[in-house]
Amino acid sequence: MALRLYNTLSGKVEEFQPMNNNEVRMYVCGPTVYDYGHIGNFRTFVAVDVLRRFLRQSGYTVHHVMNITDVDDKIIHNAAHAGLSVQQYTAKYEKAFLEDAATLNIEQPILVRATEHIPEMAQFVADLEKKGFAYRAEDGSYYFRIAKFPGYGKLSKKDFAGMEDGARVDVDDYDKDNARDFALWKAPKPGEASWETPIGRGRPGWHIECSVMSMQQLGETFDLHAGGEDLIFPHHENEIAQSESMTGKPFVRFWFHARFLLVEGEKMSKSLGNFFTLRDLVLKGHKPSSIRFLLASVPYRNQLNFTFDGLKQAAVSVERLRNFQSRLDTGQFPQGASEQMTELARDTLKRFWSGMEDDLNTAQAQAAIFDMVRKGNAAIDAGQLKRDDAAALLDVLERFDQIFAVLEDDETEKMKKILNWAKSEKREKDVSNTLLQTMEAQELSDAGIEQKIAEMENARRSRNFQSSDAIRAELMAAGIVVENTKDGVRWKRK
Ligand code: AMP
Ligand code: ZN
Repeated sequence: MALRLYNTLSGKVEEFQPMNNNEVRMYVCGPTVYDYGHIGNFRTFVAVDVLRRFLRQSGYTVHHVMNITDVDDKIIHNAAHAGLSVQQYTAKYEKAFLEDAATLNIEQPILVRATEHIPEMAQFVADLEKKGFAYRAEDGSYYFRIAKFPGYGKLSKKDFAGMEDGARVDVDDYDKDNARDFALWKAPKPGEASWETPIGRGRPGWHIECSVMSMQQLGETFDLHAGGEDLIFPHHENEIAQSESMTGKPFVRFWFHARFLLVEGEKMSKSLGNFFTLRDLVLKGHKPSSIRFLLASVPYRNQLNFTFDGLKQAAVSVERLRNFQSRLDTGQFPQGASEQMTELARDTLKRFWSGMEDDLNTAQAQAAIFDMVRKGNAAIDAGQLKRDDAAALLDVLERFDQIFAVLEDDETEKMKKILNWAKSEKREKDVSNTLLQTMEAQELSDAGIEQKIAEMENARRSRNFQSSDAIRAELMAAGIVVENTKDGVRWKRK
């Protein structure tokens, strides 16, 4: 079997095969870096990360490129307002985005920045003009002539018959149902950033950025292009128009779009007070692993309703997985294997895998693993689990975690960094007691660990090995790895 993916272009679930042997070339529209990333953004980026990880687990090499949109109307406006250059303004948010993505264990794609490709974009516009697909307006802006591209509307399934030739729109005031010639290149406005190029002074439109950078990195036709569902129209429709007019070849084979997330049943918005960045949630005391787990739990094409109850449940689920892992890791099991558990491992892997192959059905994959955890725990309680069973179940758990990435408990450091950031931004008032208590409990247990290690060392020095071994086992069960080095005993959290 192979991965079956929904393709927005065909409107069908199709079997996915890359163009070139084992190599998948994919592009995802990255963040517009004018503010901190919110959980809606991360819903999409976690969905793409799950896709990337599953492709790799399926044996593909994934050539994954993401742009950083660091030129756009909001950025230019905000930067001018703050009296900063575009680069100065965006650097802070780009860094924050990459840190947040790492906090959520999102693997980093190859990054490309719009500001580093301005000459190529100007050249692309010039070439489109030469081919008759673009024209220059009186103010020096360039527009794409959509009447020249009959395929316009094929991705968004909009029927633009009878559209008005030559009617134009500024990229950001798009009327969703009326096709208009869109800006490829915008003439400079006083006080706003612009670049000197052979087609004149100005700046690129948002759509041209992605066409130019994706084809430069991945070729004229590539396998996958991803983003949130709001990008289908006009952004991706316009990317197709620009790229296919230029090359005369299909631009992208599979279009992957994640459905928009709701928060507590409503569209997230600042005015409703249900707008959360990743950092807001961590400051409220939620662990990054719970957030990632919840974002990944609903298949990407289903509506995810993000709730605080759901987040609490996700935390419990992650704890259950971690506890099961540490029971398997540290338990003393009799030699051998039991038929029942061998079968459980095999069936779980099959269910997990077939769920993921079915258009990334993450809910089925998770259900399969939790069944395994329940049965595995029962077998341990009943004293029926054997050593080879533990290894087989751990192997399944690890494969699951290659996609979901929540088992490693490295969250104290991540949460501490966000706490320090809040202090540096003078946002102490947003720091919840829950977060402070979690951190304090952690500090205490750090001191507790040190004390246990001192006791263990004392026991060893007085040759009471039974006692020192017991302490070491206790620490191991709590996920603490103790190592003897030539500089003395060192410990770390697993
Ligand atoms: P932006 O920074 O606005 O360019 O958005 C970055 C990515 O987040 C894009 O792929 C958007 O489609 C996606 N996105 C924005 N809001 C949401 C949301 N509420 N749910 C899911 N994805 C979103
Ligand atoms: Zn894009």
